[in-house]
Amino acid sequence: MRIENIPALVKAADDMSERLARVDTGDLWNLMTCAEVDSIAAVLVLTGHDKTAAFLLCEHAVSDTEALDSHADIYAARTDGMGTRSDESRQAAANYLKWLREAY
Ligand SMILES: [Zn+2]
Repeated sequence: MRIENIPALVKAADDMSERLARVDTGDLWNLMTCAEVDSIAAVLVLTGHDKTAAFLLCEHAVSDTEALDSHADIYAARTDGMGTRSDESRQAAANYLKWLREAY
């Protein structure tokens, strides 16, 4: 990557975050693997879009029902009895994003 492209890359990440935050059907995120969602979430979190990254993880986590799934903790926190995103789910996503940020 050329360093002079970094400002344009940050703007592209801003645009990506704005658009992905509107994809709330869950279907797209459920079809992706944990690694695929992690790679998108990493770009978002490393460019300052933690809220959108947490949103993607929470939406995707609906499909992570097995203990070996990367986002099973987010799924477990999400299921608050009504299938809605709970504060615990958001906290689990925030903890996961902290780990993801440090992994890069
Ligand atoms: Zn996952």
